[in-house]
Amino acid sequence: MKHAAFPSIGSIAQKTILHCDPNIPLREVADLMAHKQVSSVVTQDADGWRIFSIEELLAHVHRGGSSDVSLNTFQLRRLDCLPASEKLLVVLEYMDNNGLHHVGVVDERGDLVGISTHSDILTSIDPAIFLDRKTVGEMVARHEPVMFTGDWILEDVMHHFCDMEDAIIVVDDGKPVGIVTTKDVFGLIFSGADVCKPLSALMTSPVITAHHGTTINESLLQLKHHRIKRTIVVDDNQQLVGVIPQSELISYAYGSWMNILKHHSSELQELVDMLEVKARRLELLAVTDVLTGLGNRRLLHKKMDEEIDRIGRYGAAGFSLVMIDIDHFKHINDTHGHMVGDLILKAVASEIDKAVRKTDAAVRWGGEEFTMLLSHTALDAAEVFAERLRIAIEQHVFVSDIRLTISLGVGEYAPGENEFELFQRIDRALYRAKLGGRNRVETDRRAIIKTTMPFMPVAPHNGGKTLQTM
Ligand code: GH3
Ligand code: MG
Ligand code: MG
Repeated sequence: MKHAAFPSIGSIAQKTILHCDPNIPLREVADLMAHKQVSSVVTQDADGWRIFSIEELLAHVHRGGSSDVSLNTFQLRRLDCLPASEKLLVVLEYMDNNGLHHVGVVDERGDLVGISTHSDILTSIDPAIFLDRKTVGEMVARHEPVMFTGDWILEDVMHHFCDMEDAIIVVDDGKPVGIVTTKDVFGLIFSGADVCKPLSALMTSPVITAHHGTTINESLLQLKHHRIKRTIVVDDNQQLVGVIPQSELISYAYGSWMNILKHHSSELQELVDMLEVKARRLELLAVTDVLTGLGNRRLLHKKMDEEIDRIGRYGAAGFSLVMIDIDHFKHINDTHGHMVGDLILKAVASEIDKAVRKTDAAVRWGGEEFTMLLSHTALDAAEVFAERLRIAIEQHVFVSDIRLTISLGVGEYAPGENEFELFQRIDRALYRAKLGGRNRVETDRRAIIKTTMPFMPVAPHNGGKTLQTM
């Protein structure tokens, strides 16, 4: 059984090793890590391997660092390597002593075959093993044993027990030969025994001792086996070096394990926090249009779901949509080139962004088309808003002195209709704006209102027809 508790580093190490060209940008490194589901990458130079971990990547991103910089702009840490056959505890000690978070695992030929983190190792180790590592000798340093030779009489040493001392060890030439415990003394006093007797006549003898190299685990087993409550620790020459009560052995064992867990959990919390920041960024990226920085279709769908949900729940004010299409944009591209076209798209996006409120959503619908969701806005107000935006764009002077116009379609959401129906209505309005000569706002007023009657009587007097108003 003991072997299972002492696995080798080779048996637990992460076997997927991602070798990276140090010249690649961090963005690619992050993609690789995500794709291969690993938490670090390695590079190789004349001195050996170097490592770059996801924690470092996240820390960099967290500090606001760019993901365009290449891996070699970092001072990559050397990856210390150990043979695959090395025992976990040896590796753990090595990492603790050298302040390492990662070690490389190499095979007999010296090839890198795995990577292991400090936390991988900790989680692979049975907590009981810590009791196998620490010796009672390491604990006794804190304890001055109370000891007397056997010729002392009980009365003269009684005050030690009154001071709540747990036991007195009787020594001969420094070697423990007997023990007198508080319990013994109480027994003696209450039975009316002679307190002037020498300790040698009262002590329990011989005593069970433990060499200072005994592990805490062995020592606890010894106490259990002999039904005794203290470990009497001796050195190589059988000289008494200390006494450790069982309660202290147990609390030490649990205390050290708790410390390890606590230390570890704060590291994990840090990592979780960083991952949350990263997740939030990714969430934002997923709903952002790359060129303009406005939202994308996904954001609009999300926002619309929220709005429909809000209206359904509170019967609150509705919302309106404004769809925008730049007029003759193809001509701008053809005349000035796509680069200028892109700059103009950005500038139009920026005007739109300036016009909307925080609670609205402005997205690039695709190409040179934009859509705005105006929260808590009825049709009339949306129309006014659209007209103001139309004028703002018409008056704006873009790069290379370019002037342009936009056509807009406006509509208000009608409770009961679905997204598709709403888009279709406003798209038709936009089409009318184009047909009507462009640079204008057209409004759809034909909202389809599907009235649902929650308390409709069951009796089908109307011949089973559903109520619908157009
Ligand atoms: P109108 O809407 O007034 O009918 O004319 P239009 O020329 O704007 O209409 P159309 O939809 O035919 O053309 C849209 C053009 O937008 C086509 C395409 O070249 C351009 N476009 C779409 N996406 C982008 C982009 O990301 N960058 C640039 N520069 N141009 C784009
Ligand atoms: Mg278009
Ligand atoms: Mg267009």
